[in-house]
Amino acid sequence: MCYYNNCFIPDEHAVSYGLSYVEREQVLRNSHLRMHNFKKRTQALGPGERFAIWLQGCDKRCLKCMTPSSQDLNGGTLVLIEELAKLILNEKNLEGITVSGGEPFIQAKPLHAFLRIIREQSTNGIIVYTGYYLEELLDMNMNEINEIIYLYSDLIIDGPYINELNDNKSLRGSSNQNIHLTSNRYIDTVNMVYNQPKRKAEIYLNNEEALLVGIPDIKSYELWKTVFPKL
Ligand code: SF4
Repeated sequence: MCYYNNCFIPDEHAVSYGLSYVEREQVLRNSHLRMHNFKKRTQALGPGERFAIWLQGCDKRCLKCMTPSSQDLNGGTLVLIEELAKLILNEKNLEGITVSGGEPFIQAKPLHAFLRIIREQSTNGIIVYTGYYLEELLDMNMNEINEIIYLYSDLIIDGPYINELNDNKSLRGSSNQNIHLTSNRYIDTVNMVYNQPKRKAEIYLNNEEALLVGIPDIKSYELWKTVFPKL
């Protein structure tokens, strides 16, 4: 197993002997993603069957964030990007993947490397949710971020969640968030559902734990919270 804390995926190359501590940290940071959770198949986070990944760490602290446990920058589990990519590439008949969080772009370098593998080795469509606005990301002036946006994604949904602006419309949590088509792949989907009250969400039960996938409408979410307080 990887010697790095919490890494649950076998790792043959993580121990880089001969490097300084700082260099080794750098190697590890760029070769792993800090992940909050994943679901191999869902129909609630974009068109078709999708592999959903929630990355760990976010400092936006939006009021009523649906996944507050994904905010801790040191939480989650470190996974090797090649192993995560392999899980996805081995899944048959996926339409695509959806990356959410937490905040995916605070891990821009390993996210870039991971999405490059998915792009180059599959035909999966790629949707990325972010708490930053697109302009903020572009202002960071970082190659990896620009390439994630313009080369390795098909749809970006941007902006923090603002509870008072939750209008029950599809694809996004609040009306300040924007849907950016960064390729032609999901034009029809966006045209069909944009600004429509057609939200989708799924609940998965595992013993006493409940996993909510997707963006539920306000009424369903409140109801589910009474049934599953840990949601
Ligand atoms: S950006 Fe998303 S993950 Fe981060 S605090 Fe806001 S809702 Fe939660």
